[in-house]
Amino acid sequence: MQAIHGVPADRLPDWVPLIVDGRELPAQSGETFPTLNPANGRELAPVARAQAADVDRAVAAARRAYEEVWSRVSPAERGRILARIAEAIAARAEELAVLETLDTGKPISQARTDVRVAARYFEYYAGAADKAFGHTIPLDDDHLVYTLREPWGVCGIIIPWNYPLQMLGRCVGAALAAGNTVVLKPAEQAPITAVAVARLALDCGLPPGVFNVVPGFGPEAGAHLAGHPGIDHLSFTGSVATGTSVMQAAARRITPVTLELGGKSPQIVFADADLEQALATTVRAILQNAGQTCSAGSRLLVQQAVHDAAVEYIREAFGRVRIGPGLEDPDLGPLITAEQRARVVQYVEGAQKAGASLVWGGTIPADPALADGYFFSPTLLTGVRPEMAVACEEVFGPVLVVLPFDDEEEAVRLANGTDYGLVAGVWTRDAGRAHRMARRLLAGQVFINSYGAGGGVELPFGGYKRSGFGREKGMEGLLSYTQLKTVTLRM
Ligand code: ADP
Repeated sequence: MQAIHGVPADRLPDWVPLIVDGRELPAQSGETFPTLNPANGRELAPVARAQAADVDRAVAAARRAYEEVWSRVSPAERGRILARIAEAIAARAEELAVLETLDTGKPISQARTDVRVAARYFEYYAGAADKAFGHTIPLDDDHLVYTLREPWGVCGIIIPWNYPLQMLGRCVGAALAAGNTVVLKPAEQAPITAVAVARLALDCGLPPGVFNVVPGFGPEAGAHLAGHPGIDHLSFTGSVATGTSVMQAAARRITPVTLELGGKSPQIVFADADLEQALATTVRAILQNAGQTCSAGSRLLVQQAVHDAAVEYIREAFGRVRIGPGLEDPDLGPLITAEQRARVVQYVEGAQKAGASLVWGGTIPADPALADGYFFSPTLLTGVRPEMAVACEEVFGPVLVVLPFDDEEEAVRLANGTDYGLVAGVWTRDAGRAHRMARRLLAGQVFINSYGAGGGVELPFGGYKRSGFGREKGMEGLLSYTQLKTVTLRM
């Protein structure tokens, strides 16, 4: 492969191995699968295809490393190793960003942000490793009661393809800081950077077997990991359908799970809001990663008085969007796969058949230079009814639907009217209304006059309703990777 963006060719992978017990291995079957560049459909590298036997080996390595090594390393020392990983990620930022862009298709400046955020997770959890305190409980004079925060043991972590580096940082950083060892299954569509970070972690002195990576297909490697008897805790980020089967597999062994299952997040814009700020942010959020973001803000709920102005603003903004391969740093890159684009097309066509009006986009760009990639133009739909699939299901594409409302009551009803409850944005200059809305919205995060907060490393994140349960990020995220023990001593 040629040098790209100044990154030397020998840093780009010829193949993507498993990382098991500190070693780079092929799958035991010898099989590989291709990971594709979404900008042109070409293979980037063959990837070792982990299957049941490889997952078994990784879980065994993680168990050994937990019992013999990592559980004996002091929290402070765990933190020091994680801090070195954070520095190593930052030192290789451009290389990792290029790999992430090639593998996911996202614009390079967004990939650079992802690298920064991933490094920041390791830095944050490095500092937190020795601060997962227990409590003392005042029972009576005869007893001393205290709680201990203990690691689960071996954590299985299954991540999706949309933000591989960020997902890895938030889950693996927290799990390792809390004293667990990890088997990570990255998504088959974008496995490259997970393996690259695992390599860096080993170079930073993370003991072999503490962080293992098994790239492979969901129904093979993923399903086997989810049902594995050697796994003590599972974290899954992905679709509701797959989350359901992960939870079912976990249920058979009472393995605790954290599930983050996406969203249909509303941006709620009142007429008194700073419209420019609200709409510019809404546009940025739905274009980011081509709308393939669980907190994309894919429903614009807008008060009647400013509906037409809002639609016009977004139509113009979408009209200016530069579409292209991620390495050219456009506003909008390709979708992850041809299948994903076909799903998005279906949603848009379905909405039009159901009576929605297409204000902008809805097409595959005609530019022949983009013909082999999975591009889709930014798409704005009005005249949408809340029960339409495009208005209540997660599209995962650059598709924004507009729903007008009259008053707070109706805004709350629309906002809470889907099965999801991940994030909500409220835009208003009325502080009382903002806080009333924040309380009434069924969402794990509510942003007022802002949205996203630059990765939100410190901010607990997770769903209400079918967006899942459990929390990642922040100190809550660290605690998700611990179990609580209560110790009672009679004096
Ligand atoms: P998406 O539809 O966004 O690809 P998925 O929920 O299918 O999302 O995938 C998210 C992650 O879950 C990926 O790593 C994928 O390989 C994995 N996965 C898919 N199917 C299963 C399964 N049956 N069991 C465990 N993991 C799975």
